[in-house]
Amino acid sequence: MARKWVYLFTEGNANMRELLGGKGANLAEMTNIGLPVPQGFTITTEACTQYYEDGRKINDEVMGQAMEAVAKIEEINGKKFGDLENPLLVSVRSGARASMPGMMDTILNLGLNEDVVESMIAGNPDPKFERFVYDSYRRFIQMFSDVVMGVGKKYFETLIDRMKEEKGVEFDVDLTAADLKKLAEQFKEEYKNQLGEDFPSDPVVQLKAAIEAVFRSWDNPRANVYRRDNDIPYSWGTAVSVMPMVFGNLNNQSGTGVAFTRDPATGEKKMMGEFLINAQGEDVVAGVRTPMPIAQMEQEFPEAYAEFINVCETLENHYHDMQDMEFTVENKKLYMLQCRNGKRTAPAALKIACDLVDEGHKTEEEAVAMIDPRNLDTLLHPQFDAAALKAAKPLGKGLGASPGAACGKAVFTADDAAEWAARGEKVVLVRLETSPEDITGMKSAEGILTVRGGMTSHAAVVARGMGACCVSGCGDIAMDEENKQFTLGGVTICEGDEISIDGSTGNIYAGLIPTVPASIAGEFGRIMGWADKYRKLKVRTNADTPADAKRARELGAEGIGLCRTEHMFFEADRIAAFREMICSDTVEEREEALAKILPYQQGDFEELYEALEGNPVTIRFLDPPLHEFVPTEEIEIEKLAVAKDKTVAEIKAMIESLHEFNPMMGHRGVRLGVTYPEIAKMQTKAVIRAAINVQKAHADWNVKPEIMIPLICDVKELKYVKSIVVETADAEIAAAGVDLKYEVGTMIEIPRAALTADEIAKEADFFCFGTNDLTQMTFGFSRDDSGKFMNAYYDAKIFENDPFAKLDQTGVGKLMETSLKLGKPVNPDLHVGICGEHGGDPSSVEFCHNIGLDYVSCSPFRVPIARLAAAQAAIKANAEAAKAAEAKEEEKEEKDARAERREAIRAQVKETAEEVAKRLEAGRESAIEAAKKFDEKYDASGKAKEVAAELKDISKAGFAGAKAGFDEARKTFKENRKN
Ligand code: PEP
Ligand code: MG
Repeated sequence: MARKWVYLFTEGNANMRELLGGKGANLAEMTNIGLPVPQGFTITTEACTQYYEDGRKINDEVMGQAMEAVAKIEEINGKKFGDLENPLLVSVRSGARASMPGMMDTILNLGLNEDVVESMIAGNPDPKFERFVYDSYRRFIQMFSDVVMGVGKKYFETLIDRMKEEKGVEFDVDLTAADLKKLAEQFKEEYKNQLGEDFPSDPVVQLKAAIEAVFRSWDNPRANVYRRDNDIPYSWGTAVSVMPMVFGNLNNQSGTGVAFTRDPATGEKKMMGEFLINAQGEDVVAGVRTPMPIAQMEQEFPEAYAEFINVCETLENHYHDMQDMEFTVENKKLYMLQCRNGKRTAPAALKIACDLVDEGHKTEEEAVAMIDPRNLDTLLHPQFDAAALKAAKPLGKGLGASPGAACGKAVFTADDAAEWAARGEKVVLVRLETSPEDITGMKSAEGILTVRGGMTSHAAVVARGMGACCVSGCGDIAMDEENKQFTLGGVTICEGDEISIDGSTGNIYAGLIPTVPASIAGEFGRIMGWADKYRKLKVRTNADTPADAKRARELGAEGIGLCRTEHMFFEADRIAAFREMICSDTVEEREEALAKILPYQQGDFEELYEALEGNPVTIRFLDPPLHEFVPTEEIEIEKLAVAKDKTVAEIKAMIESLHEFNPMMGHRGVRLGVTYPEIAKMQTKAVIRAAINVQKAHADWNVKPEIMIPLICDVKELKYVKSIVVETADAEIAAAGVDLKYEVGTMIEIPRAALTADEIAKEADFFCFGTNDLTQMTFGFSRDDSGKFMNAYYDAKIFENDPFAKLDQTGVGKLMETSLKLGKPVNPDLHVGICGEHGGDPSSVEFCHNIGLDYVSCSPFRVPIARLAAAQAAIKANAEAAKAAEAKEEEKEEKDARAERREAIRAQVKETAEEVAKRLEAGRESAIEAAKKFDEKYDASGKAKEVAAELKDISKAGFAGAKAGFDEARKTFKENRKN
């Protein structure tokens, strides 16, 4: 049988979102619960996927079923598509599984052509009706041309403006029937001018083109970007809903509106909406006329309003969530055109979720599940003033690398940022890319904008850690560092010019957009409390400074999963000693320099332990290539030369010798520990001494340092550095005469480490997945350069997401699972976490929960996101497990029932067999009886013949009985077999 591509509204329901899209499923559901919906049909999302599979063509089967559905709705509505007497006009709308507001387009009044228009007018002498018909016609031509054929709106708007000017009127509604008729003609001429062909008059041709346009819109650039930002797979496709038109622009007893059952900005429980008399849907959105508040509809259309209020209540009670609705009133009668769970701001989402729990609509788990964790970001950072942002036009777009809003004067070096900020200026630091040297400048800036680098570039990682706004990787910027200026979108921004950047969307603006501070509503804590109740995964933070650690603790972090110790070396008071260490010729020289750093590092660690109050702290040993630390400025080089008692030329030569062609795969990570064990020794001393001191000061805390060795690929590397760590640590502990426990573990960030995790687990107390490097090494994509080609990958549909932002579960995830499978049996105490940037990404957190990690670690501002995502993962997994258990229970019941049935049959068979045996016995007895009679009678009477006949009768009866028994037994067996 042919696949079913088309469903009438009466054939669907709310559970069929995947197939019918959100809009189609909800139209069906509203139909089912008896709400006034014009009866139409939905073409499935599968038809959309098929359209792409067929090389962007609607196949005959789909179109055939659509036309059959048209025939059915003609019957239901008593009108005919393309008919001159009683024409059926339809709207064609898109609707994907997840709502994508404003992403795709709608076509109204489809089915109109010149003949239909004329005959409609002829059938109704009211001049207002004529005006309505021409108004609908010109709207249709306009929308069809724009949405279906890609002729821009502007051409038609110019014609409308010109007409209004000619007629001296301000609004569209003031144009007469004759004006609109003329406009419709002008529109068609414009269509022909633009496309070189006539506007299609055949309604079937119009319909097919409109359906195709909706399918095509799934792949338009707007939709692609929206999907990537919102994690919506391309493979889902969109459905198309075709609905008979009801006319809000019919007359003054008609109108159209949109409304929310609760305030989408604040969550307050009060209806919000707008309404326009004598208008069609797009007028409300387009802002051509100012709509009236929904409450005013009560005066204009009291009955329709009362019904609408009832509908709102019905829908909220039905969906148990805030609804966003579109409706039309035609001749005072209400029609519902759409409903969906309304989009809302983050504060509104929290308030609505809590209110729904209090009102008994939702359980705590359901409330936790309904918040999009990514939305929480906006609660924690300053935001642009919404109205000002709407009015601003971006110059260009980079990656939204660290959320928040920043505006200030553009500066081009980290030093300038620090200097300008020190004198009270707000600045945005603009760099080709940032390096660890820029830290102080980055801290001083309101926000950071870089030309290069992806989601895990230095700028992105550090900015997220600091909670600073960052837009990275805007390759469209033409940078002129020398003259301290850049050009983007045709505008040149010089040093001191004001710019604004949006770290959530990646948009870059010229000028200053005002910001408003972040506000954390009371509901935030309540939702987080519920989240903590249901989650299994622990949430730690990536923090390098006590300030970051404290902030993360406030946001709910339960430990530090990654302290990148190198960031501590950049502070002004230690970088000099560190550089001296790098530019040493001998071990002794190096040790001397390291001895200068040791007290600083120990102090840093003490503060970290203090901030964490006895919760776990994982300290990772030095990781980046050394060349990142050496000076680049002449004056700094000179200082270093003096300190090392060397010439500038000698220092320069040493710096030069550190150059690597591929530093990410160069002299870094554990390799530094192997070449310079004294660095590992110094870091171990600092870790252990700090722990001993803090433990002494807080006897009730359990200070147990976790030392983490980065970037290993072979167990022997770990073993080698670990032996240095253990020897040093044990000596320190013994010297202090205390009993301090510590752990030594490793990062898993090279595929070979994952593949040999069984060997590594023998030497490691814990694993922590460094998925930034693991992604880099698994894909072979440089984490700092992949931004350059990623857009081409998106356009070619090779990738839907940046693997550095959203964990690649198929490849990198498989390596993680492999590590667990190999490592855990060897070392059952092994604890495992993740500290790559993915630890704060909701879908990646879900994956981590599912494969059984102990914790995720992320930058401080992502801690609440990870807590919520971890709870959602647990709730989802529990629900799935409960469903699986239920299915298993059902299967067991079914099995038991089958066994019972079998038992019953067996008993019946046994009974029958016994009956058969009995009858056989009876037959046998009667045969014996007969034989006896024969004996008695044969000779005595001589009536042999008579006796023989009697004998025959008796045995026949016996055999018949036995046969009946057999037949019955056979029948029972047959039935048994059937069951
Ligand atoms: C990683 O590689 O995932 C990681 C956490 O380490 P870094 O980003 O410092 O290389
Ligand atoms: Mg790493």
